Amino acid sequence: MKIKLLNANFGIDFIIPQDFTKKLKETLGEKKTIAIYCAIQFIPKLEIVKSLLEKEGYNIIITKPHRAEFKGQILGCDSYVDNLNLDISKVDGFVYIGDGYFHPNAILLAQENQDKIKPVIILNIVQELIEVIDKTHIEKYLKKKKGNLLKFYTSNIIGVFVSSKWGQEYKESALKLKDQYKDKEFYYFVSDNFLDSEMENFPFVECWVNTACPRIGQDDILRHSKPVINIKDIFLLEFKNE
Ligand code: SF4
Repeated sequence: MKIKLLNANFGIDFIIPQDFTKKLKETLGEKKTIAIYCAIQFIPKLEIVKSLLEKEGYNIIITKPHRAEFKGQILGCDSYVDNLNLDISKVDGFVYIGDGYFHPNAILLAQENQDKIKPVIILNIVQELIEVIDKTHIEKYLKKKKGNLLKFYTSNIIGVFVSSKWGQEYKESALKLKDQYKDKEFYYFVSDNFLDSEMENFPFVECWVNTACPRIGQDDILRHSKPVINIKDIFLLEFKNE
């Protein structure tokens, strides 16, 4: 089977809202260091925003996150600090070019274990809006996640979800769990979708480990009826770059 790829750049003219730099100065102050990211369709706009910010006296850092194809692009799964390929201690805040919360939330979630979660200024060039999101935006997920991790350690019967989707399949890491936690009983479930309704068919499972898209165990966790924890949160370091 041949797969045809079509570029889908964000083609319309874009206007940077007038209050963008004002909001930036209010949030971060002047002459600060900012890391900029965007969704792939906004890549052609990245340099324009970078130049504007440099003219305003900001120092700009653009990295290529672990899952991204291009410098400055961020995917929703670049939601752990090692994914960003960035020395986070060197930045004062972030600018995200695009709309919605899925990608800017990844930047906040990636800072989970930092002393301070630095704000993300969303330059929403679709709706021509500026919005600042900070720790308060993800607090409820972080709180729930701590509880879920505790539940994993205290549970005896664990369900492990392994995705059959390309790019989300981490069977090898999933199997390491049973070697690492010999006192627990592990059941492995392979599917292309992680559905809450399916989890309900296995009521004996006390806690679930997700090895697929990390957002299932991050900002999706409020939707699940049973505790779900990402394998990366269990194996934080060993899992790196599988
Ligand atoms: S793993 Fe999740 S966040 Fe990453 S590209 Fe796939 S669906 Fe999106």
